[in-house]
Amino acid sequence: MAQWRAGGDTIALVPTMGALHAGHIALVAAALALADRAVVSIFVNPTQFAPHEDLARYPRDEAGDLAKLAGAGAHLVWAPPVAEIYPEGFATRLEVGGAALPLEGAFRPHHFGGVATVVCKLLMSAMPDMALFGEKDFQQLAVIRQMARDLVLPVSIRSVPTVREHDGLALSSRNAYLTEDERYIAPMLYKAISDVARGRDPRDAASALLAAGFAKVDYIEVRDAETLAPFVPGSGRPGRVLAAAWLGKTRLIDNVAC
Ligand code: AMP
Repeated sequence: MAQWRAGGDTIALVPTMGALHAGHIALVAAALALADRAVVSIFVNPTQFAPHEDLARYPRDEAGDLAKLAGAGAHLVWAPPVAEIYPEGFATRLEVGGAALPLEGAFRPHHFGGVATVVCKLLMSAMPDMALFGEKDFQQLAVIRQMARDLVLPVSIRSVPTVREHDGLALSSRNAYLTEDERYIAPMLYKAISDVARGRDPRDAASALLAAGFAKVDYIEVRDAETLAPFVPGSGRPGRVLAAAWLGKTRLIDNVAC
């Protein structure tokens, strides 16, 4: 990478947790369109999972990932072992407020501190000109933008729209957990948030999800698209509908503009 930099090439980093799908590949394509070199990191970050969450069973497919990334034209894949990111004696963790507090922050209080810590470390290690993140994880994107701004990280944060299945389900590595029946119901989440974006009461949309077979709706809310504070109608600011809901043992998240 030092050679690329010395030669004047711009570098884009795409951080991932592997088990790659077409959503990740869209990030790589965007990276290649925006920069001379696309670097993809694959790291299932233990510090963003709470003890009861799915770290141990998170899908992994390194050989498949490498083949997909070669096909996509990525220039470099960085898949560090846990001990490289968190060596003995590692004792720092970023504390994130603001956009990190509501929604996912309320249900997964541990999560964004771990995300911010690892993304900061990945960015400072690779020192790319830009880093790309998916709108699929919209709150994560807002938290990373906030962190980059607050800590004046010298990296431009870019976003890529959510890639969906033909029936609207947002691609996610966790979709692999869904049973056949659950997979059939799963696109209802996108329908529910799209209905709210068109003006449906979020409480009615949540009831519709439960009626369709979702086990629990953690939240379905309209928020300010930048700060993630409660949306103020008539404010002229962009809004975002965000939701998280359980289908059996699988927790799905999704969001759309409104
Ligand atoms: P993950 O491997 O789930 O941590 O995701 C790595 C990156 O890919 C994150 O920036 C995600 O937001 C992004 N991503 C995941 N799924 C999608 C999708 N369906 N469309 C676009 N980006 C996605």
